[in-house]
Amino acid sequence: MTTIAFIGLGNMGGPMAANLVKAGHTVQGFDLMPENLALAADYGITTMRDARSALEGAEVVVTMLPAGKHVLSVYEEITPWVASGALMIDCSTIDVESARKAHDIASRHGLLSIDAPVSGGTGGAAAGTLTFMAGGSTDSYSKAEPILQPMAGKIVHCGDPGAGQAAKICNNMILGISMIGVAEAFVLAEKLGLSHQSLFDVASTSSGQCWSLTTYCPVPGPVPNSPANRDYRPGFAAALMLKDLKLSQEAAQAAGAVTPLGAEATQLYALFNALGNGGTDFSGIIQFLRGKGE
Ligand code: NAD
Repeated sequence: MTTIAFIGLGNMGGPMAANLVKAGHTVQGFDLMPENLALAADYGITTMRDARSALEGAEVVVTMLPAGKHVLSVYEEITPWVASGALMIDCSTIDVESARKAHDIASRHGLLSIDAPVSGGTGGAAAGTLTFMAGGSTDSYSKAEPILQPMAGKIVHCGDPGAGQAAKICNNMILGISMIGVAEAFVLAEKLGLSHQSLFDVASTSSGQCWSLTTYCPVPGPVPNSPANRDYRPGFAAALMLKDLKLSQEAAQAAGAVTPLGAEATQLYALFNALGNGGTDFSGIIQFLRGKGE
C-alpha cells in the first residue's frame, strides 16, 4: 500500500481521497478550507496543517484544484520537497498549456507526472466510477494506473503530457454543443405541439440519439433521474460548463482549430451564467432558450 499526499479536498477531491483510503492507502490530505479538512477527517484521511507536511513519506502526490493557476502555484511550492522519483498526478481540469508547464516543473525536480482529469461528477467521485483521461509518459502512466483504479470506472491513456486535458476539453465541448442542440429540439417540439415523450421516444432510437438526450434529458419525465426532474439542481453546474468551454476555445485559438459551434456554445453559456444561473445545472439552458433565463 502507498502513502499518498492529496491536495484539494473539495467536492471532488474529498470523496476521491476517501476511495483511496477505502482501498487501504495512507492518505495525507490538505485543503485551504477548514470545513473540507474536517469532512476529510471523517473519511479517514489524515489531515495535515499545510501542503508541505502532507508530503512526509509520500510516494505519490494527487492534486484536485480549481484551475491552472492553483495547480502551478502548488507545484512550484511543493515539488522541491517531494521525494525524488515520486509520482505527481494532477486530476484538476485545467488548460493544456498549464498542464504542460506542471509536467515541466515536475520533471525539473526528477519527478514522474501525469495529467489525469476526470469525467463523472461528484456522483462518480463518491462511487469510485470516474473516467480518467491520462497524459504522460508510459512509465508515469504504469505507476499511476493502480493508484487511479479505486477511484475509476475507466482509465484511458490518451498520450503525451497534456493529452488528458486535451481529451477532457474536447469531450466537454461536444457535451456543451449537444446539450444546446437537444434543448433547442425540445423547445421547437413544444412550439409544434409535439409532446416531450414523443420526441424522446423517436430521437432516442434515431439519428438524434446522444448522451445529452438519453442520460441527461433537459425536460422532466423521459429520464427520471436527470436534473430537469429536480428543478435543474446540479449535477454539473453551468459555471463549470462555461469554464470547460472557455478552456476549449483558448486551446482552439492557440492551436488554430476552427470550432464555430464551440464558440457559440461558449457565448450562450456565458449569457446563461451572466443571468445568475452559474449554480444551475447546465441542462437548465433550455429555460434560457424558452426566454425564461433567470
Ligand atoms: P472545489 O472548489 O469543490 O474544490 C477545490 C478545492 O481546492 C477547494 O476545497 C479549495 O479550498 C482547494 N484549494 C484551492 N487552492 C488550494 C491550495 N493552494 N492548497 C490546498 N487546497 C486548495 O472544486 P471541485 O468541484 O472539487 O473541482 C475540482 C476540479 O475538478 C476542478 O478543476 C473542476 O473543474 C474539476 N471537475 C469538477 C467536476 C464536478 O462535477 N464538480 C467534475 C469533473 C471535473
